[in-house]
Amino acid sequence: MQIHKGDQLFQEALKYFISGVGAAGRFFPTIGRPLFLERADGAYLFDIDGNQYIDYHSSSGATFLGYNNPEIKQAMQQALDMGYFCNYETEYHVKLAELLCASVPCAEKVRFANSGTEATLGAIRLARGVTGRKKIIKFEGHFHGMHEMAWFNCHTTLSEPNEYGEIPCIPDSAGIPEEIASMVIVLPSNEPDIFRSCMKRHQGEIAAVIMEPVMYNAGCVLPKQEFVQAVREETEHAGTVLIFDEVLSGFRMCLGGGQEYLGVTPDLATLAKALGGSGVPIAALVGKEWVMNGLNPVGKVVMSGTYTGHILEVLGSLKAVEIMRSPGFYDHLNQLADRLYSGLSDLLQRYRIKAVIQGVGARFAIYFGLEHTPIYDYRQVVRHFDFDMNQRFLRKAFEKYLYIHDYGNKLSPTHHGFTSAHTLEDINETLTRCEDI
Ligand code: PMP
Repeated sequence: MQIHKGDQLFQEALKYFISGVGAAGRFFPTIGRPLFLERADGAYLFDIDGNQYIDYHSSSGATFLGYNNPEIKQAMQQALDMGYFCNYETEYHVKLAELLCASVPCAEKVRFANSGTEATLGAIRLARGVTGRKKIIKFEGHFHGMHEMAWFNCHTTLSEPNEYGEIPCIPDSAGIPEEIASMVIVLPSNEPDIFRSCMKRHQGEIAAVIMEPVMYNAGCVLPKQEFVQAVREETEHAGTVLIFDEVLSGFRMCLGGGQEYLGVTPDLATLAKALGGSGVPIAALVGKEWVMNGLNPVGKVVMSGTYTGHILEVLGSLKAVEIMRSPGFYDHLNQLADRLYSGLSDLLQRYRIKAVIQGVGARFAIYFGLEHTPIYDYRQVVRHFDFDMNQRFLRKAFEKYLYIHDYGNKLSPTHHGFTSAHTLEDINETLTRCEDI
């Protein structure tokens, strides 16, 4: 394995970037630096040392349809030929919004954004604006982007709940003022009784409940149906806006994302990542008309931006959604994903490794240190996850040219397992390489 150019470039990058990376998440602790790419294609990454990897990072889930997708490339070429402008509307914006409303159950109206972070920020502001309330409820371990409003209790230690089951709200970054934490209530997910009693205690105060329908940010922790039902019932009853953050789960297992998978329709949903199909940087806030009408210029909640709905993104995303809507797309995706998950599970059992695989659609986690599925309990994952075994596995996988990204955070066992444009041969080849680890 040649990695010399990468090491040299890292030394150069250290002169200009903190930790040698333009964004913190790209640092790959497994090799002590980022992977420097030359190009990417399909399910493969090619680094500047000429190594080819089968990729299970998928740009943090953004290249759902694989890298360098020819149809998306062609659509973006059309945008380049049109003058690649931003801050104007076109017929393609309307077409994309129409397809989103036809695909996602809660989508009656659409507003574009540039990132998942921006979409969740807009969703929370909209919920506050429409309800005139300040407080929001979020769940431990659920991630909603890096803005101040909901970045709590994701990558922090597990702290003791109070007598009502509420968990002390701890920011995931320095620089987030306590005053904001005072507007956020953190609860454990999958606990319907704690949720119901919290809603009663804070009657008339809660603007929004924001949640990941499937807890993909902790790998793949499953939602309990009775919990999600309770959240829907209570929020509806209280006039609280229910936001499904589908930045990761949108399109990931079926066209309608987590809400279709669970059969529970929120008031608002945020979409990003897979929405751009092949890494195109687009996001959207979609939702029921009664809430979305709060957005300006009809309502008083402002959400807009210079690059929002850039023609490059819109044409790229339109093609992506058309591809995802094509017949048989999800059957194929789920078949391949299941082949990988069952193959990896067989290997773990055969070699008596204390670990389990849990995956839904194109997202999975290998939980080293855990023994039984299904896993619903985030705290169980954090407490039992075998960080060292995970690190050893990722290192060996990397040496076998399998790229599985990890942030190296002991408190956040979320190495990113995503399938994308993998073929059956890629999956079989992956299993063969894993057998050797
Ligand atoms: N919400 C969820 C559920 C996410 O997984 C992420 C990103 N991993 C975000 C929001 C933030 O999205 P972005 O990185 O596009 O800002």
